[in-house]
Amino acid sequence: METLEARFEGISVQDENHDQYAPNQTLHKKKGSLSHAISISNLGASAAAANRLKLPLQKLANTNGVKQPNSTTTTTTTTVTKVTLPSQAAQRSSEIQPRSSDYTAPVSQPQPKQFHLGMFEIGKPLGKGKFGRVYLARERSTGFVCALKVLHKSELTQGKVEKQVRREIEIQSNLAHPNILRLYGHFHDSKRIFLIIEYASKGELYKHLRREQRFPEWKAAQYIAQMAAALKYLHKKHVIHRDIKPENILVGMHGEIKISDFGWSVHAPNNRRNTMCGTLDYLPPEMIKPGREENWYSEKVDLWSLGVLTYEFLVGEAPFEDTPVMTQRRIARGEMTIPPFVSAEARDLIKRLLVLDPEKRIPLDEVQQHPWIIKHCVKGERAYQRASGDKQRSSQ
Ligand code: ATP
Ligand code: MG
Repeated sequence: METLEARFEGISVQDENHDQYAPNQTLHKKKGSLSHAISISNLGASAAAANRLKLPLQKLANTNGVKQPNSTTTTTTTTVTKVTLPSQAAQRSSEIQPRSSDYTAPVSQPQPKQFHLGMFEIGKPLGKGKFGRVYLARERSTGFVCALKVLHKSELTQGKVEKQVRREIEIQSNLAHPNILRLYGHFHDSKRIFLIIEYASKGELYKHLRREQRFPEWKAAQYIAQMAAALKYLHKKHVIHRDIKPENILVGMHGEIKISDFGWSVHAPNNRRNTMCGTLDYLPPEMIKPGREENWYSEKVDLWSLGVLTYEFLVGEAPFEDTPVMTQRRIARGEMTIPPFVSAEARDLIKRLLVLDPEKRIPLDEVQQHPWIIKHCVKGERAYQRASGDKQRSSQ
């Protein structure tokens, strides 16, 4: 176990295969928990190509507890959970952007597989969260590229988040939408839980936003359209995300967004936000007011956050950013100013989302039909098609 641990810890980002690929992406850990920048190899062409890629992998020899399936000498209990890894065809199909919010990524159903660590080649670290580390990985038999999140059971127990994590796994593994990060399965050994997650090659949206300061309207509109589609799908499944913000959105290889982090979803909140990073910026007014706990259970909270997100995409900062006391006060009053460079259409959508009364917020159907979305999405997608030369997209 220790050796295996050490191997995880010791994974180098400058390994021998690195120079084979022109790095076109660099992920930086925003919270400074990784001291280095991680270069992701050329994953731009397609998901299929990505899966053919020879990753700069560190081989984990199966000598320390985790054995090949047919090994008879396993010394450590590795409990496996039945999971189904989608075929590469399914992985390819999930690249296609939905036109309809009702779209559900087709998942082929190969033989259910029982996973364990030995079945994966482990690649570069992708990042570190509060409770886990995430690595680029490839399932050996299929070559399927994914991300592997490693959570230490002891840390989950210490942080009293086992239930929350279980909940997160339960919810996320039942979701299949192109704009929601897929959780393909999970398995565990005596010390750790491993989550097999969809790999989002362009990293955190938060990073993109900070780098670009603010997004052009066409890009913001396309992102918001994707968010609306994903939220509509979630709400139809009675899942409320409750923690929509740029830090919880990843970007796929085609620039499409992937909502992640379901740690807050459905479950009534505790004071996790305070213990996490203390941001109040995305809290809707009904979550601030005392004695209104029932509002935590309304999906309308995600509409407010969508309004905050739209604002932040276009302006580069959240609408109520201030000292904590002032932020709360301003949210409760809906006090914000939209800078003059924001178009009238975008301004209109923001104002229809950031409405104090949850019932009066513009519903997702109408967000999708909003003039700002219609204008920029159709135009933007055509521009994208031209740029990428991907004729197939026009038929979607
Ligand atoms: P917290 O634990 O506080 O929620 P987090 O959401 O950043 O923090 P993780 O979900 O563990 O934590 O992810 C850590 C980092 O790893 C992310 O911020 C992201 O940069 C990277 N990462 C996580 N999952 C993926 C993925 N599927 N594809 C690409 N990068 C990922
Ligand atoms: Mg997270």
